[in-house]
Amino acid sequence: ANDRAARTARLESLGQLAGGVAHDFNNLLAIILNCAEFVAEEASGQAAEDLARIRDAAQRGRALTSQLLLFAKREPAHGEDVDLNSAVRGAKDLLGRTIGASITLRCTTSGDALPVRTDRGRLDQILLNLVINARDAMPDGGLVEVETDLVDLAEGVAMPLPAGRYAQLTVRDNGVGMSTEVRDRLFEPFFTTKAPQKGTGLGLATVYGIVLDAEGTITVDSTPGVGTTFRILLPLATPPAEAPTGGQLTPAPAQG
Ligand code: ADP
Repeated sequence: ANDRAARTARLESLGQLAGGVAHDFNNLLAIILNCAEFVAEEASGQAAEDLARIRDAAQRGRALTSQLLLFAKREPAHGEDVDLNSAVRGAKDLLGRTIGASITLRCTTSGDALPVRTDRGRLDQILLNLVINARDAMPDGGLVEVETDLVDLAEGVAMPLPAGRYAQLTVRDNGVGMSTEVRDRLFEPFFTTKAPQKGTGLGLATVYGIVLDAEGTITVDSTPGVGTTFRILLPLATPPAEAPTGGQLTPAPAQG
């Protein structure tokens, strides 16, 4: 538990630092972009080409800083529990469009409601990041399976999780897989094996932070040339109907 607390604290301070830097950079990049666009109107030939390059680099910088700001903005989730199954169903179209036509997306949701202690935006971020990574691991197409289940864990089965009921999210691809070197560093902020225009290395660090905030775990199983499976376990929030000594639910008076 100490290790988890230390990791969370480290991620948090890193997030704050990253957020501050990203914010300042964003302002500087806005100036660069504006000026480049302004001057480009009167430029021609080589100068116009160079300005286009400046503009592209500044735009790429902005995409990076907005990712950074997303990473930094994580605060403890408060408020309503959210159903993992609704989140998966709700995100399915977006995920399908994101991975493109050469990859098949299969979503299977469990029959049970799976209320978890986080929020919809965070679940979307988890899904999007994992599915984008799966896509990037399958340049020649393939299959991404997103699956949810209700699991009942006995004590000590999935350390450091206590026994109890969990919502499980599995994202599986049959892509290139990864080496043990990559697997060991996967969740580090800024660790990426992708080309600079494609990866920031913040995707899985963000996912990791969200999962920790929700008191869950994330594990990865990967074989080079075969594929990768990410498995997330999030403690089930107790539905009101099952609360001890509950039963004080009275029908809400009709509105109007
Ligand atoms: P990014 O996607 O920007 O590189 P991530 O933190 O999401 O950052 O991922 C870090 C690295 O982990 C990736 O660059 C890639 O090498 C590896 N990785 C993540 N998901 C997968 C996957 N499904 N299959 C193979 N490698 C993966």
